Amino acid sequence: MAVDLKPTDVVIIGLGAVGGVAALPLAQAGLDVIGLEAGTWLKADDFAPDELRNNVRGWPHAIQKANREVPTHRANASAPYSPRLSIHPMMNAVGGTTLHYWAQSWRLNPWDFKVVSETRRRYGASRIPKGSTVEDWPFGLDELERYYDKVEYEIGVSGKAGNLSGKVDRRGNIFEGPRTREYPMPPLRGTGFTDMMGDAAGKLGWHAFPGPAAVNTRSYQNRGACAYHGFCARGGCHINAKGSTAVTTIPKAQATKRLTVVTEAHVTAIEVGADGRVSGVTYLKGGTEYFQPAAAVLLSSYVYENVRMLLLSKSKAFPNGLSNNHGQVGRHYFSHNQTAGVTALFPKRLNNWYGLPAQGVAVDNWADDNFDHAGLDFIGGGNLWVYSDRRPIGAANMSTYGRAPRWGSAWKTFIKQNADSANTSYLQKTTFPYEDNYLDLDPTVKDPLGFPVCRITADYKENERRVSTFIQDKMVEWYMAAGAIATEKTGIGTMGPTTHAYGGTRMGNNAETNVVDQWGFSHEVPNLGVLGASVMGTSGARNPTLTAQALAWRTAERLAKNWKSVAK
Ligand SMILES: Cc1cc2nc3c(=O)[nH]c(=O)nc-3n(C[C@H](O)[C@H](O)[C@H](O)COP(=O)(O)OP(=O)(O)OC[C@H]3O[C@@H](n4cnc5c(N)ncnc54)[C@H](O)[C@@H]3O)c2cc1C
Ligand code: SF4
Repeated sequence: MAVDLKPTDVVIIGLGAVGGVAALPLAQAGLDVIGLEAGTWLKADDFAPDELRNNVRGWPHAIQKANREVPTHRANASAPYSPRLSIHPMMNAVGGTTLHYWAQSWRLNPWDFKVVSETRRRYGASRIPKGSTVEDWPFGLDELERYYDKVEYEIGVSGKAGNLSGKVDRRGNIFEGPRTREYPMPPLRGTGFTDMMGDAAGKLGWHAFPGPAAVNTRSYQNRGACAYHGFCARGGCHINAKGSTAVTTIPKAQATKRLTVVTEAHVTAIEVGADGRVSGVTYLKGGTEYFQPAAAVLLSSYVYENVRMLLLSKSKAFPNGLSNNHGQVGRHYFSHNQTAGVTALFPKRLNNWYGLPAQGVAVDNWADDNFDHAGLDFIGGGNLWVYSDRRPIGAANMSTYGRAPRWGSAWKTFIKQNADSANTSYLQKTTFPYEDNYLDLDPTVKDPLGFPVCRITADYKENERRVSTFIQDKMVEWYMAAGAIATEKTGIGTMGPTTHAYGGTRMGNNAETNVVDQWGFSHEVPNLGVLGASVMGTSGARNPTLTAQALAWRTAERLAKNWKSVAK
């Protein structure tokens, strides 16, 4: 029998990137919020700059929940399972994956909200990829701008605006949508390497600019500036320069005395009352089961767990899983096409042995619909990103570009001479949802508690493959213009578990094709909100977190403003 706890206003399941943001507007509105977090608080001495621990062994932090429930994957419903990953890099701790993420903090491009209507208008309906279930978002960038702005100022994002209320500034991204304010801090500094790449982009007639990062470039809200020493690409920041929610919105919400954080609380189900509304959640802590009643629940446990939690939360009113009477939970799943990269070898040292991966230079000329696709056989594009970050184990893993064997003394000599002369780009490309790419519960593989893990059935389709080839060619062109003497492309692979997962609880006005409404609340259960990239219907060509955080703020604000009607 579960121990019954005192009712609260709102329960947030998972205090990571998005749950950690949503807590603040709710607490500031005077609602009593309980944040149930599977992980623990981490401290500065948990953030050792240790590549072996962080990047190779997957940071053996206290709670290993993500690693114990790594989703299974198959490319399609009749394909064999792919080898299961032994580590999933998402974090279980207060602050979630913002503790050790790269902190690139992009807004989506205006086109990403209107892919269907804009593609029809510019190229005709036949150009929407066959089998794709992509829809326009229920609103445009103009609606989300205010929330992007709020989050950028709360967590502290550094960058350079490229479009201030319609006035284009070439020092920033000239392709971005209009923003009302400059970033709260200037961008991370460039390096000799990023300057060289910026110049090469200019020679090609492309526009290079520094990317936005949730990393302080000056003292901001009592947190110090970045020291550029690196080793935080999957490691935490021991001086709190990185704007993790554990050092920004969560403590600010706690200071209102309205947020209670319960750590090591593993939520196993969202419960439903006789009226078909959510009544609270069941969680395990220290071997005891608790029932926490709540007037409203916000689910923010990352894409795979959001879907799994809904599918596992069965009741009389929802026999196929919570909010799944339309069969949409798990549908419209996709993951960002981050693979299909390019590496390059230069005839000189690049001095990239310090710095962090958010410290780089981007080219957006080939992203989204920033270029004419009329004569091309795909839609969408990619963001080209090169950055300063090199660690010893990763460097030793470099390609030998066919110039040396992969072992022995000749290999060692090559690595010694060239480790600082190679660079690997990060190419994020448009991906779409398709009818036959989805998430469900695995019929046989279970977590240690005996619950089925999430199963991914998904693969990249023709449009994603064509975008990849096009973007890799552009990246090769950029490297060659900068003086590279060799380049190498990596394969696209398949759509296995990832850190940039989307969909499964998509947002939209049509309840037949979407799980949540335009505010992030379930079409079927009015006091259940879903937060995270699981509500996003397009990926754009850039990382998801700032968009997911802006949406989370908007959902939380909506809940606070309509408290009486939602939580009756
Ligand atoms: C190495 C790395 C680098 C990345 N770099 C970037 C980047 O530069 N820019 C970017 O935009 N994105 C980046 N990402 C992705 C980014 O981290 C995610 O988009 C973001 O953290 C997702 O937010 P979330 O709140 O949904 O999940 P998380 O931040 O992972 O938070 C989920 C929280 O829920 C908790 N939880 C899960 N299940 C339960 C449960 N059953 N009960 C209670 N609590 C639960 C977890 O412990 C966790 O704290 C990166 C990710 C990784 C791993
Ligand atoms: S490089 Fe900057 S963000 Fe990374 S750990 Fe050092 S101070 Fe923190």
